[in-house]
Amino acid sequence: MPEKQRSRFLRVRCSDCGNEQLVYSHVSSVVRCKVCSKTLAVPRGGKAEIKVTILGEVE
Ligand SMILES: [Zn+2]
Repeated sequence: MPEKQRSRFLRVRCSDCGNEQLVYSHVSSVVRCKVCSKTLAVPRGGKAEIKVTILGEVE
């Protein structure tokens, strides 16, 4: 079986402004904070590399 590629949403907190938002676990473009535009996640091999604190997962 291939490695699990389960997609999900991650709840993250922006380290600059404290805003919490959901980031998809597989992104194709950079995800920025809706409040301050800090980079929250960057695409890395089809998966999101999260640059800030991950608070949890949302199925
Ligand atoms: Zn922010």
